[in-house]
Amino acid sequence: MQDIRIELREDKREKPQDMSKVKFGKTFSDHMFLMNYDSQKGWHDARIVPHGPIPMDPGAMVFHYAQEIFEGMKAYRTESGAIQFFRPFENIRRMARSGERVSMPAMDEDMFMEALKKLVEVDKEWVPSEEGTSLYIRPFMIATDVGLGVHASDSYLFCILTCPVGSYYPEGINPIKILIEDQDVRAVRGGTGYAKCGGNYAASIRASVRAGKKGFSQVLWLDGVERKYVEEVGAMNIMFKIDGKIYTPELNGSVLPGVTRKSSIELLKDWGYEVIEKLISVDELVEAAKAGKLEEVWGTGTAAVVTPVGWLTYKDETFEVEGGKIGEVTQKLYDGLTGIQWGKVEDTRDWIVTI
Ligand SMILES: *Cc1c(COP(=O)(O)O)cnc(C)c1O
Repeated sequence: MQDIRIELREDKREKPQDMSKVKFGKTFSDHMFLMNYDSQKGWHDARIVPHGPIPMDPGAMVFHYAQEIFEGMKAYRTESGAIQFFRPFENIRRMARSGERVSMPAMDEDMFMEALKKLVEVDKEWVPSEEGTSLYIRPFMIATDVGLGVHASDSYLFCILTCPVGSYYPEGINPIKILIEDQDVRAVRGGTGYAKCGGNYAASIRASVRAGKKGFSQVLWLDGVERKYVEEVGAMNIMFKIDGKIYTPELNGSVLPGVTRKSSIELLKDWGYEVIEKLISVDELVEAAKAGKLEEVWGTGTAAVVTPVGWLTYKDETFEVEGGKIGEVTQKLYDGLTGIQWGKVEDTRDWIVTI
């Protein structure tokens, strides 16, 4: 494994007084990790340097053809002051799969983990300790070849940024309103839906803006072929409790395989729930809602962990779920996952990696 060169910043930056109140993704820690790739040298020049601009030629391929992938994960501070990651190898492996889809090089898994640990260690004072806070970690990779011809880039830059993030639910967990989007689609089978790449988001913004103007927090995407099966929410996977059983869309290539989704399924099964991964049509959901059998709906994702959905709107009809309140399973899942993440519940599954 190559050594990581560390160049500490010399100026002192002010840290926010109360990290539990910082806006998501707006405040960055002092340092970032960088590493370069080209086909001659492979990955090289691993370094931790002060957070700051990356000089780039405007002809770099990422600006024109969106060859970019990213990850989203967190480091958590436990009550004893220790810092830990939640299933980091899931993110590391997913990034390799995302990269494969858009022809970007994979990285040695242990090197990636070492970079995460070193970076968080260097900026450990930026890992907040207030209730519900964490350090959000954003690894990403961009194509840096200069030239306007479309081809797989030969050179890449890998970067890891970190940001302290406050509690997602400072005022308690409030269920959100979701619009089932029936015009735009986010992804198609055979496309890049399962990859965490920036381009997927570019295609999704218009629908979010439209929904936002109508008072919805997010959109629920339907499949790109028939606009019939539900897929996922903006940056969350989706789960339904219907007549006592838990349903979630199967990973069909256009759904992002969330780490929180996978962990939720495993916990729910351990707790004795029947969890069914399948194609779920919007008609089925509407029918269940009308029959009073749509008992709970929630989204899963690293940023918010578990988000209850209180209202689902499809075309001109709105269905209230669980009286617009958080349901029992949603709450249990939130407590179960966050308990493990913050080290309040014993990790019996080897999900935690400590620094
Ligand atoms: C990141 C992401 C998710 C959630 O994945 P987690 O690993 O649970 O954070 C869901 N959907 C999309 C589109 C995403 O980008």
